[in-house]
Amino acid sequence: MPINTGRNFLHTPGPTNVPERVLAAMMRPAVDLSDPAYLAMIQTCFEDLGRVFRTDGRIFIYMSNGHGAWEAALVNTLSPGDKVLAPEVGHFSRNWAEMASVFGVEVDVVSSDWRYALDPEVIEARLRADTSGEIKAVLMVQTDTATAITSDITAVRQAIDAAGHPALLMVDVVASLAAAPFDMDAMGVDVAVAASQKGLMQPPGLGIVAANDKAWEAHGKATLPRLYWDWTRRAGDEYYRRFCGTSPIHLLYGLREALDMLLEEGLDNVVARHGRLAEGVRKAVEVWSRGNVLEFNAIEPADRCDSVTTIRIAEGYDVDVLRLACRGELDLSLGAGLGDLGGRAFRIGHLGYLNEAMVLGALATVETALTVTGIPYEAGGVNAAIRHFAETHRAQLANAAE
Ligand SMILES: *Cc1c(COP(=O)(O)O)cnc(C)c1O
Repeated sequence: MPINTGRNFLHTPGPTNVPERVLAAMMRPAVDLSDPAYLAMIQTCFEDLGRVFRTDGRIFIYMSNGHGAWEAALVNTLSPGDKVLAPEVGHFSRNWAEMASVFGVEVDVVSSDWRYALDPEVIEARLRADTSGEIKAVLMVQTDTATAITSDITAVRQAIDAAGHPALLMVDVVASLAAAPFDMDAMGVDVAVAASQKGLMQPPGLGIVAANDKAWEAHGKATLPRLYWDWTRRAGDEYYRRFCGTSPIHLLYGLREALDMLLEEGLDNVVARHGRLAEGVRKAVEVWSRGNVLEFNAIEPADRCDSVTTIRIAEGYDVDVLRLACRGELDLSLGAGLGDLGGRAFRIGHLGYLNEAMVLGALATVETALTVTGIPYEAGGVNAAIRHFAETHRAQLANAAE
């Protein structure tokens, strides 16, 4: 291990940076599980998670990662032999669908080349063709962290409605909650799935699922085996049942602090900050790409998400040498290419507890590593990001002065 002489820059799109405030909130002795003050604190977490998802639906908190939350969404709403429609725009959408098939659910994949968001009309056509209503759910990933492609959830809802199809809309917001605009109730999402270690700025360890009344109704008929994940067992006010056993005390104190931070900043401001930081990264990548070796994975600018940027590298260049140089020599952790993009791309995460200075540090370090490893790029990416941040802040300063 190299000697650490300063802060490590964590730019993986999960886990993300855990703020000192969150770490400090967790630094406490364990409490009695039935301590009234503790139970009151947990209750506020459930309520404020509803504000973050923007839903009046039910919230379930699991001691798990995102994969656990995926499983919870599936086993609570589906039965063996059911069919789901799985639009695939990357590694995560593929894996959620594969999980469904393990449970004996038939998966109808809408495949893509992972470089464009799927056209909602394709989803509409598939649903229209399902005249007997075999499809019980559409599994969407709002932001696929592997490809950095974002899907228009409102348009998918409209596609389902236009087809007049009763399928549930289940959305993975693991990488988009508290980063991209998401309004569960207004968007007509029936089940939403999240995890703690992304936009929620927490250590890994909490899987979170939100379900509306339509999903709850489907739950009543769904027969996939379940116990730990079971919504019915977790319903009611008794906290030992709500967590199917001991609650994750310290993670919940951390969650409380993270929710405070998000609500203090304001959810709209959180989303706007992600947009601003992401655009700075994209400005840099645009310039680097002119060297004809690096390029955005998502070809259409409108398909690029605000949580992470996936950058492809031309054949003949070893992308992992770049990533390992960053991590080993330069104290910057980047995301690797995942799934079909393994060895062919790297990812700059810009999700969670971040500001301009941190993003500029990361971008400058990537330029350093590109130089060190001899990967061709056009210089000036960092300057382009600086110009973008300067323009947005000049506008903000002018507004504040008015
Ligand atoms: C990270 C991620 C997951 C998986 O979460 P884990 O906590 O690693 O299980 C699922 N979906 C998306 C979009 C993700 O970014």
